Amino acid sequence: MKIAVVGAGAMGSLFGGYLSQKNDVYLVDIWAEHVQAINENGLKIEEQDGQIRIFHPKATTDAKTVGVVELAVVFVKSIQTIEAMEENISLIGPDTMVLSLQNGYGNDADIRKFVDKKNIVLGTTAHGCTMKEPGFVYHAGVGQNHIGPVSSDRNAAEIVAAVLNECDLITDVSDDVMKLVWNKLFVNVGINAITALIDRTNACIADNPCANAVSKALVYEAVATANAGGANFDAATVFANVVEVARKTGLNRSSMLQDVSKKRKTEIDKINGAIVKEAEAHGVDVPANRLIVNLIHAKE
Ligand code: NAD
Repeated sequence: MKIAVVGAGAMGSLFGGYLSQKNDVYLVDIWAEHVQAINENGLKIEEQDGQIRIFHPKATTDAKTVGVVELAVVFVKSIQTIEAMEENISLIGPDTMVLSLQNGYGNDADIRKFVDKKNIVLGTTAHGCTMKEPGFVYHAGVGQNHIGPVSSDRNAAEIVAAVLNECDLITDVSDDVMKLVWNKLFVNVGINAITALIDRTNACIADNPCANAVSKALVYEAVATANAGGANFDAATVFANVVEVARKTGLNRSSMLQDVSKKRKTEIDKINGAIVKEAEAHGVDVPANRLIVNLIHAKE
């Protein structure tokens, strides 16, 4: 299959590298040094056991040289999706399927501005990656992908799952992808901004009573927002899961903490900011989320 990865940073490189085992893959990224390193030396992926694998997808900064693809995998940060879709629209034809495994809420709505709903596949991934240097990523966490259609048509999701599974990216298709997206969002809502503000690893949400109390306020508001939109989550169960994830990933520095440390713009508007936006639409008051969005923007 002809596949383009739009935004081939840490995660885009991982997926693009793996997919290049059986597909014609183009990594499209504005980071010229990274693109050049991949084309000259191959894409290096260090696995958790220390093994370094080298893959040979093609890489480019110019999507127009690629032409229309059958599948576009969007892996820019979620705040960059609209801009990246606009800049790389030459990849998209009427039948192009588009997959997003980005964090945050609203990625489907952003992609829907450019792509027919039946061709959009949304999901979550438990893989984790960090950039080591241009052309070289570390595969920090291995896990499963859960994807699903955003319309009633499962066809694109089934095709995408088959392509991913064939390349060792274990994936299942869910009938309720929004439930998956919300559950991942709750974890990011309850961990990311707090760890970024107090400069601590994820364990603080489980171990520090004050961080835990703030997380609880954020997550309970997020659950109230989801339920106001028609979902049916139990806040206590959701928060217990957030704390459990924080405990299990206790030594991790959240992506927002990493972004703040490197003075990069964060995904706050698609995480706690998405709660504020959704809450407004449903008449739910979310003062804790409003406050933390402002604090992160102040930090930025
Ligand atoms: P990243 O910053 O490493 O990669 C994003 C890439 O997009 C960069 O290389 C950047 O140059 C590129 N880019 C920006 N604008 C572009 C444009 N207009 N056209 C083409 N390329 C452009 O980010 P990441 O860590 O790979 O995360 C990507 C998404 O995956 C985020 O939503 C993140 O929350 C999610 N995610 C990350 C992890 C992880 O472990 N890194 C895990 C799960 C989910």
